[in-house]
Amino acid sequence: MTADHVLRALRAVSAERAEDALLSVRGLTVRFRLRGGREVAAVTDADFDLAAGECLALVGESGCGKSVLASALLGLLPGNAETSGSALLDGTDLLAADEKTLARTVRGRRIGLVPQSPAAHLTPVRTVRAHLEETVRALTGTRRGERRAAAEAAAERAAFPAGHLDRHPHELSGGLAQRAATALALIGDAPLLLADEPTTGLDRALVDRTADELRRHADRGKALLLITHDLAAARRVADRVAVMYAGRMVELAPADRFFGAPGPRHPYARGLLDALPEREFTPIPGFPPELSDLPEGCAFAPRCARATEACAQRPAFRAGVACHHPHGAPGAVRA
Ligand code: SF4
Repeated sequence: MTADHVLRALRAVSAERAEDALLSVRGLTVRFRLRGGREVAAVTDADFDLAAGECLALVGESGCGKSVLASALLGLLPGNAETSGSALLDGTDLLAADEKTLARTVRGRRIGLVPQSPAAHLTPVRTVRAHLEETVRALTGTRRGERRAAAEAAAERAAFPAGHLDRHPHELSGGLAQRAATALALIGDAPLLLADEPTTGLDRALVDRTADELRRHADRGKALLLITHDLAAARRVADRVAVMYAGRMVELAPADRFFGAPGPRHPYARGLLDALPEREFTPIPGFPPELSDLPEGCAFAPRCARATEACAQRPAFRAGVACHHPHGAPGAVRA
């Protein structure tokens, strides 16, 4: 085991202790009310803690609820959403805070957002320098004469080259747009970075570089919540991995145990890894259920080779997994 692995394992243990958590999420639930009385169960009973200097990767297929969870933390859900539970960030419950509090004290200042599709997030008619200087002004109150230097320092922190600061978003490569977005996310010196699918649309080399850069921010003491469907990126960055399926967290595990031995315990999580080209390249059969029409029992049962009659009852989340027959459990059924 390398020193890096030992460090990550220690961080994972530390973050499991709620008293060390910077962010503590309990019972986070999001429902969308649709016309005709229908309800979409986007997120149900999510529980996790995240410590300073730690990266938690929240993984799962598109539509599993992970981006809705991120939007709930930022107070950016649409008007038909109802949330319950709590999400304490350094004493502030993000789910109970009003819009004024979120806008003035949370977004940018206590949570830095590294967005999906960063080029689309930037205003097309403004240069990267103008974006940075405006954000420096808004978040730090730096005086006009000092903003240029502050913007250049922010660019440097995210490894954005100074020679490209006067370019417009359409003149940036995918990697540079990502770094510009990361530079903007770092300006408020927020203790929590929330990266929502930051590697979408990037080629493998850029994915690796972006992942490594995010890891460096965690190593400098930021808590990093990485929302991704890219398991290779998660493996590169994460101390712990949380897997979501059909709006619920089904496994939460230290990254070294998840990606190495003994491997994931939940059949869905194991299926996600087995579907990777560098592993067995075996897709999970079937499709996820509609979040507006979830079954009573385990939502993964129709796709699960280990399902038994017991799975008609929804499994509780215990000891890091929500499954009646997890891999590695004494007496578990064989797939
Ligand atoms: S509870 Fe049953 S159906 Fe669900 S994942 Fe576990 S074994 Fe499969």
